[in-house]
Amino acid sequence: MKPFTYVAPTSLREAHQVLAKAKGPGDIRALVGGSDLVDQMRVNRRTPSVVLDIKRIPEMKRLQWLPRSGLHVGAAVSCTDTASFPAVAQHYGSIHESCQLVGSTQIQNRASMAGNIGNSAPSGDTIPGLITFGAKVLLTSPRGKRPVLLEEFFTGPGQNVCAPDEIIQEIIVPPPPANSSGHYLRFIPRNEMDIAVAGVASMITLDRRTHRCTAARIALASVAPTPVRAKAAEAVLEGKQITAALIREAGEKAVEAARPISDVRGTIEYRKELVKVLTRRTLRLCLDSLGQKVD
Ligand SMILES: Cc1cc2nc3c(=O)[nH]c(=O)nc-3n(C[C@H](O)[C@H](O)[C@H](O)COP(=O)(O)OP(=O)(O)OC[C@H]3O[C@@H](n4cnc5c(N)ncnc54)[C@H](O)[C@@H]3O)c2cc1C
Repeated sequence: MKPFTYVAPTSLREAHQVLAKAKGPGDIRALVGGSDLVDQMRVNRRTPSVVLDIKRIPEMKRLQWLPRSGLHVGAAVSCTDTASFPAVAQHYGSIHESCQLVGSTQIQNRASMAGNIGNSAPSGDTIPGLITFGAKVLLTSPRGKRPVLLEEFFTGPGQNVCAPDEIIQEIIVPPPPANSSGHYLRFIPRNEMDIAVAGVASMITLDRRTHRCTAARIALASVAPTPVRAKAAEAVLEGKQITAALIREAGEKAVEAARPISDVRGTIEYRKELVKVLTRRTLRLCLDSLGQKVD
């Protein structure tokens, strides 16, 4: 492991003073749970000269739900605290589910959604659900703040739009439209402690009177260089009364967004099949939650 300096500022101002000295991409790395970063540093996959522990900064611990702006999850909030926050269980099913899937109880107690996002692996389990709910990350730097739509945040495996002096301050998830439901499922070869071979989050909004689908969002993990939205599959459902045939068609269309690779966990064909199956299943879960029967 390359030698590094550890700093744990107690205010955003102090953190900005540290970030202002960033020498280039990856020179300063934020630390929350360390469940990705520490191991990556041990094997020299990430070699920061400064590790910036953000857990003592009050703004990073924010966990709040406001009817107008929605859910605010500070970057240092753990997956455990996120999953057990009542508004998350009530309004954002897929986020609730995915925070309880990351690793194990011990990992969830340390790890954060911001770390999952900052690590920028295509397999990050908390990311698809956040994308389907239109989440943004609020980036902070000595130069100011800027919100970035999460679906536009990732640029490649392990890479994102953060400048060297920028870190995530919080994740903001807008309030979902009335009569919406979201679910996340992943496939792993064993019950826990593995990386998703494929993961799918779906979010459906139905008109209360006509039961037509007014909004559909589907996002995929582990089947492309970054998490991706399956827009062609969403278009199959929007504006329509959802039937079993449409669910099947959406599953087929979701595959168009996938650019999977073959690796030890699965082949390209296997991953494509998983996308179909998980898309169908998450859509059915959403409709079940909304009390909508499908023929
Ligand atoms: C045993 C084990 C099982 C795991 N299982 C899963 C799993 O099932 N699903 C899954 O998705 N992941 C899994 N992981 C990976 C990891 O736990 C998650 O990605 C987790 O969410 C990372 O959060 P963290 O707070 O520990 O991140 P850290 O390790 O602290 O940080 C991860 C990366 O994000 C960056 N970062 C952290 N905070 C910020 C910020 N505020 N702004 C910008 N960048 C930031 C860091 O610099 C680093 O590059 C597992 C890891 C282990 C060790």
